[in-house]
Amino acid sequence: MTAFAPEYDCVVLGGGPAGSTAAALVAEAGFSTLLVERQRMPREHIGESLMPETYWIFERLGVLEKLAAAGYAKKVGVQFVNNTGRESAPFFFRTHDDRPSSETWHVDRGHFDKLLFDHAGERGADCRDGVRALEILLDGEAACGVRLQAVDDEGQTETLDVAAKVVIDATGQSSLLASRLGLRKVNPQLKKAAIWQHFRGAARDEEGGGVKTIIMHTADKQAWFWYIPQARDVVSVGVVGDRDYLLKGRGTPAEVFAEEMAKCAGVEERLAEALPIDEVAVAKEFSYTTERSAGDGWVLVGDAWGFIDPVYSSGVYFALKSAELAADCVVDGLRRGDVSGATLGAWLPEFGSRTNLVRKLVYAFYSGEFRVGKFVMEHPQHHAELVDLLIGRVFDGERGAIFADLEPWLERALGGDSPGDEEAAEDGPNVPSVA
Ligand SMILES: Cc1cc2nc3c(=O)[nH]c(=O)nc-3n(C[C@H](O)[C@H](O)[C@H](O)COP(=O)(O)OP(=O)(O)OC[C@H]3O[C@@H](n4cnc5c(N)ncnc54)[C@H](O)[C@@H]3O)c2cc1C
Repeated sequence: MTAFAPEYDCVVLGGGPAGSTAAALVAEAGFSTLLVERQRMPREHIGESLMPETYWIFERLGVLEKLAAAGYAKKVGVQFVNNTGRESAPFFFRTHDDRPSSETWHVDRGHFDKLLFDHAGERGADCRDGVRALEILLDGEAACGVRLQAVDDEGQTETLDVAAKVVIDATGQSSLLASRLGLRKVNPQLKKAAIWQHFRGAARDEEGGGVKTIIMHTADKQAWFWYIPQARDVVSVGVVGDRDYLLKGRGTPAEVFAEEMAKCAGVEERLAEALPIDEVAVAKEFSYTTERSAGDGWVLVGDAWGFIDPVYSSGVYFALKSAELAADCVVDGLRRGDVSGATLGAWLPEFGSRTNLVRKLVYAFYSGEFRVGKFVMEHPQHHAELVDLLIGRVFDGERGAIFADLEPWLERALGGDSPGDEEAAEDGPNVPSVA
């Protein structure tokens, strides 16, 4: 293994979409950057349906051509199916806005994440897989480096410290720094679990020049399925419900998965001829925020910052966007010699309030009676804004008119807290620590 430099301007922990994006942008700006990933790339990951707004970050990174050549299934829209099996008219993105940026992909995350990881290397980052961050080294409250454990091809481990002016934590749901500092807060309103599996030979519902992400409720409305057709005849199918409902006292995850599928005719029919190609997998308690997301010499991005919910496929986009915004602040701080929490986290308040728009839509989705298709039929004036939200267009312009009419569902979901209170509560913790 090539030796590590004793010191880097920036060390990025975690080689998922957030880490690779941040590393590429900081390295490209001319700062020495180390990106470490504990697993060997490619590694599997859930989260395969992208939001179209990822386009602009891919364009900035210079990966659009590589992604287009990767052969992923083209995602052209989203469709919702209610508990009686009634299908909403699909929300086709290009009908709303006929630009290439309105389409995206259902990706194979192993391939996609490696593509971004390798790209960060091409942009000048020192990218290492098989290297685990054991801890972030602190000087008082300021991050000043990282303790790493590298494993070579013979399985020999080596532990070493590298110094860093800035540490970007992009370690995903393990959220290394936030876990160590006790900053993680599981969202009690969204204590969910997911069980999923991949199939071949399933229906693909191709129309509009590509495939759609389909969200289907089960008959008793206790859970919902995602249905994500990918390239090479693969379909990703997963069920999401309250953690206790799905995982307590109901047998193995495979048994629960089969039971829930039996309650969802739309999934059963589409999988009638299909065969599984991998084992059933489980994730639980995945919605959380972090009380503080930046400090002197450190900043959290992607799932290490927080995660809302998979229903609108916003996770990868928010991972990329947070990494982009944080990288710009890191570059600014390194140029000015000011890597305080205030500088590194300057993007956080705006990011918190913008992503909160999707969070509110998630609360509405889980509030019981809310149905996306029905809501749009009853409130056609909100159709355009809803499609904007599904595309991921939350960071530009004035948004939020739709929420006036979503109020009844939000009140039900939040137990009397008004969306305004909710927003303040969500935004507050993400304001960076300022000495
Ligand atoms: C059930 C479920 C379904 C989802 N579906 C979707 C979807 O359809 N669309 C979507 O956009 N999003 C989806 N998501 C969310 C999406 O998967 C994440 O938001 C996205 O992967 C976040 O990217 P990231 O780079 O922040 O973290 P990750 O992709 O998790 O990457 C973090 C990396 O850090 C590495 N790491 C961890 N600890 C260390 C350490 N100590 N040292 C070194 N490396 C470390 C990990 O190995 C990992 O590779 C889903 C999530 C769940 C739970």
